[in-house]
Amino acid sequence: MADYKRVLLKLSGEALAGEKRHGFDEATCVEAAKQVKAVVDKGMEVGIVIGGGNFWRGRTSETIDRTKADQIGMLATVMNCIYTSEILRSVGLETEIFTPFACGSMTKLFSKDAVNEAFKCGKAVFFAGGTGHPYFSTDTGAALRAIEIEADAILLAKAIDGVYDSDPKVNANAKRYDEVTIQEVLDKKLQVIDLTATIMCMENKVPLLVFALNDKDSIVNTLYGTFNGTKVTV
Ligand code: UDP
Repeated sequence: MADYKRVLLKLSGEALAGEKRHGFDEATCVEAAKQVKAVVDKGMEVGIVIGGGNFWRGRTSETIDRTKADQIGMLATVMNCIYTSEILRSVGLETEIFTPFACGSMTKLFSKDAVNEAFKCGKAVFFAGGTGHPYFSTDTGAALRAIEIEADAILLAKAIDGVYDSDPKVNANAKRYDEVTIQEVLDKKLQVIDLTATIMCMENKVPLLVFALNDKDSIVNTLYGTFNGTKVTV
């Protein structure tokens, strides 16, 4: 994938939590950060979106108003980005965090121009707070930002090493795709990203590379080595 210049890396909140499933697993985050540094050092521009599932999902509560629950979810993604940004800094990378809403002095308001400036300075860039609207997900936030910043692809670092024709936890004979079209993802309802994000990637021709975060050097190998995962073509 060496012809890529700018990518959007989507990490799930659960990926940050590692085995703990909640909060942060520092070793997992440091390992991912070292890999991001390695690819930025090679000249790759990396935007990062992180989910919030290690803290909160809007659907978690059946008691409180969904809009408010989603606001908590969006703030969870801001916490994840501040934490991961600091981990990136600890391995020697400069960073900038953008949000679609004001968070005082903690983040900057998203604008394409400001993002391009940050990339020019060699920074890794975080897109925290999702789309800024309830009833969306960070998958959709990732698709939106990838399209806006004209990323060459979305790198989907998951707990699973690609896209399967059925759930490998349930079906021992589940087959992993090396490559699959985004139309097939839609038609067969394959578990990649949510429907809204899938349609956005299809309409705007953003390919996806799905791989396991826990595979050794998976981010570096996806961009500069042998890719072990599924490519979703558009
Ligand atoms: N969220 C939101 N709008 C967005 C992005 C996220 O309301 O644009 C909220 C929503 O409550 C979601 C939570 O933030 O459940 C965490 O985001 P993530 O994408 O990890 O959630 P998931 O898709 O796993 O529910």
